[in-house]
Amino acid sequence: MNSLTNRRILVGISGGIAAYKSAELVRELVRAGADVRVVMTAGAMEFITPLTLQALSGHPVHHALLDPEAEAGMGHIELARWADAIVIAPASANLISRLAQGMGNDLLTTLVLAAQSPLLIAPAMNQAMWSAASTQSNLEKLQQLFTDRLTLIGPAAGSQACGDIGLGRMEEPTIIAQAVADCFESLGLAGKKVVITAGPTREAIDPVRYISNHSSGKMGYALAAAARDAGAQVILISGPVQLACPDRVECISVVSADNMLAASQSAAVDADIVIAAAAVADYRPKSLADQKIKKSTDEISLELVKNPDIVATIAALPQPERPSLVVGFAAETQQVEAYALGKLERKNLDMIIANDVSDTEIGFNSDDNAVTAYWGKSDHQRQTFKRTNKNTLAVALMSTIAEQLPNG
Ligand code: C5P
Repeated sequence: MNSLTNRRILVGISGGIAAYKSAELVRELVRAGADVRVVMTAGAMEFITPLTLQALSGHPVHHALLDPEAEAGMGHIELARWADAIVIAPASANLISRLAQGMGNDLLTTLVLAAQSPLLIAPAMNQAMWSAASTQSNLEKLQQLFTDRLTLIGPAAGSQACGDIGLGRMEEPTIIAQAVADCFESLGLAGKKVVITAGPTREAIDPVRYISNHSSGKMGYALAAAARDAGAQVILISGPVQLACPDRVECISVVSADNMLAASQSAAVDADIVIAAAAVADYRPKSLADQKIKKSTDEISLELVKNPDIVATIAALPQPERPSLVVGFAAETQQVEAYALGKLERKNLDMIIANDVSDTEIGFNSDDNAVTAYWGKSDHQRQTFKRTNKNTLAVALMSTIAEQLPNG
């Protein structure tokens, strides 16, 4: 169930004796790495306490629609937007009926109306209630209303709490959790680990001065968010930038190329993909002055030494430590293709993404970019991405990168 890492799952619980099993479902989802929030109907709270679900999910349980205090926290629309998937377990006959009518007369039904994410429903009720014509017709209506969004899980057959035997038992929590995980299985990077470097590095001259560049980090940060949305666990190693760490991405702040190399080497362990989007300073001062350098002479000179090549170091790792895909960027002002292909080969990369930085409208510090990706050994393949904003471009690039994964 790797695909649940970082996924935001809203568990809805309605009133029924199977509600006690929802505690196990929440545990399963949390254990699989999901961020879980619980919404209970009034009926559910008669069977299991919110405190139990709060302890297991690690977050206060939501149950009131018209409570100003609750709405001031995460309101119903926010919760609906927050969820990557909603799973209702158990779903009582009453809840299924209210959903089929399109009612929004409590928090859970309102949320379902407001959400656009996949909806999974695990019914649980007495066997006669399950086979009742009205329940079956409500289910048909639900299928029509929610079409591709809806997954029905169970119910299972067996002995019921009321003593009857038949269809109507809620499916086991492990089966429900697996069904939730399956929703994300098709994402291009489900369960993969992606490491991205971003931003500039700063190479200290003395305690107050440094050499750096104008990289904004926008491309690397956008790639991190796109990899996360494609289902990956993402580590973003960033030089100093003015950007906030994207939600559900692990960010490691570094300053110099040496720092970035050390962080990248340890993050690359077990990584499937490493993408080097950082503008690493090529050189650093040979020695760092202990004290602020005083101005005295008209001229001074600074001796520089070459920085380690981070992406080439990762790409040179022996198998099986080497990530399956190592991707670099090439910012060029002339002969873009020739220089990019040279770097692809020299650094032993699997893909290089080239952009022409002589065009000041795109690249480095701008919100937009236009690039060409090259991959393949002797007969290079290429894909050109027209000028667009870096977030849109990142989604398209991540999908091209994911396709190059072995079995991708
Ligand atoms: O050689 P050049 O700097 O043009 O190569 C650019 C690519 O190599 C980018 O992917 C950049 O992040 C990476 N690089 C690196 N370490 C360096 C220099 C560049 O990882 N020291």
